[in-house]
Amino acid sequence: MNERPNSLHASDIAHSMHPYTNMRAHETTGPMIMTHGDGVRVFDSEGKEYIEALAGLWSVAVGFSETRLADAAYAQMKKLPYYHSFAHKAHEPSIRLAEKLVELTPEGMNRVFFTNSGSEANDTVVKMVWFMMNGLGKPQKKKFLSRNKAYHGITIASGSLTGLPANHTDFDLPAIPVVHLTCPHHWKWGEAGESEADFTARLLREMEDTILAEDPDTIAAFIGEPVMGAGGVMTPPEGYWQGVEALCRKYDILMVSDEVINGFGRTGARWGCERYGFTPDILVTSKQLTSSYLPLAAIVVNDRVYDAVADHTAKLGTFGHGFTASGHPVACAVGLENIAIIEEQDLMGNAARLEDAFQNGLRQFADHPLVGEIRGVGLIAGIELAADKDARRAFEPAGSMAKKVAEFAAEEGLIIRAVYETVAFCPPLIVTEDDIAEILARTGRALDRALDWARAEGLK
Ligand code: PLP
Repeated sequence: MNERPNSLHASDIAHSMHPYTNMRAHETTGPMIMTHGDGVRVFDSEGKEYIEALAGLWSVAVGFSETRLADAAYAQMKKLPYYHSFAHKAHEPSIRLAEKLVELTPEGMNRVFFTNSGSEANDTVVKMVWFMMNGLGKPQKKKFLSRNKAYHGITIASGSLTGLPANHTDFDLPAIPVVHLTCPHHWKWGEAGESEADFTARLLREMEDTILAEDPDTIAAFIGEPVMGAGGVMTPPEGYWQGVEALCRKYDILMVSDEVINGFGRTGARWGCERYGFTPDILVTSKQLTSSYLPLAAIVVNDRVYDAVADHTAKLGTFGHGFTASGHPVACAVGLENIAIIEEQDLMGNAARLEDAFQNGLRQFADHPLVGEIRGVGLIAGIELAADKDARRAFEPAGSMAKKVAEFAAEEGLIIRAVYETVAFCPPLIVTEDDIAEILARTGRALDRALDWARAEGLK
């Protein structure tokens, strides 16, 4: 494929360093170049059509051709293309979007801080919480609790909160005080014969033992994705979030709900914390906030957090943190228009209405010889591949079967994402029942082709 001199393909190989990519392998395989989108579909430079069943990176709620977002960006660019929000400056799009997010988030969350990415948002959460604790005269209360397999981003602090080896190895992370608890995924981490309720009870005991061993006065916050996304789409066991919330309240630990993927209806409820019935002190949202047409993330905090932070800024004279593009007017204008579309077209309701068709549809593959477990809620799901379903044993090398299924799916015109042993699904919220039928048909063909391949290779 390198024999295309002067092509985009050759230029990419010559000049680009891709995230989450084996760069040496890329020099021979080259890029898949996307050229345009249409609804839930995208098209590559060869003219091939794909259903984008991961919504890009779990993020494009309104699909890939929403001209209203382009118009909103253009209108804002013409009016006020850039302004910042440092030192009392403000502009209408960020004011209106903050107001909207306060309206949409749980009762009592009244203040919004904007960043450009989920990673920056979680780094900001860490710094905000540390700043708050120093302001409250609790300088020793700084540790975070997270979970193995969590994904909270890749910057120094957010990457430390993330619980995935690839994000730590040789990046010298974790670099902040964080304790990773057991991943709350019953199928994988439950012991033989352990019921879901017993698994939950064991995880909560582990959490409490950890808090006591570390000393509650040193633990500032617990951070979690209501449904874990990039670690492999893991839905929590029954009663887990209520138990975590109770322990956080008991030991005065802040709760951070990382809703970067979960937010805006993805789980079938407006927020993941609402689906699972807990109330965080801090909620982080991004991705579907603008459908990722422009980079934007928001941290929404309750009055307790705001008051502590605000008091400390009054004492020190400032909050010495912020980005040139915090609350960028064009990104905020696009976010507002995106939320308007989500509301007008009731896309959060669409996710709830299509949950059964999507989730039950995928579960038709439960008995497929390659499939270990199928899980998900709303419009997010994962199919975990297993060499031995009963022993919950994965194929070797790790992640190879999920990659193979995703490769066959792409050939069938379906983009899904291989994350460890799982292929992940997270289609745009505008998806229809017909689209879902097509996603299921292409998934079935990809699984069957992967099975034929596995048999031909003699894999077990
Ligand atoms: N938090 C969660 C739950 C995520 O899924 C992600 C990205 O996938 C992030 C944070 C990091 O966001 P970003 O890639 O915008 O830095």
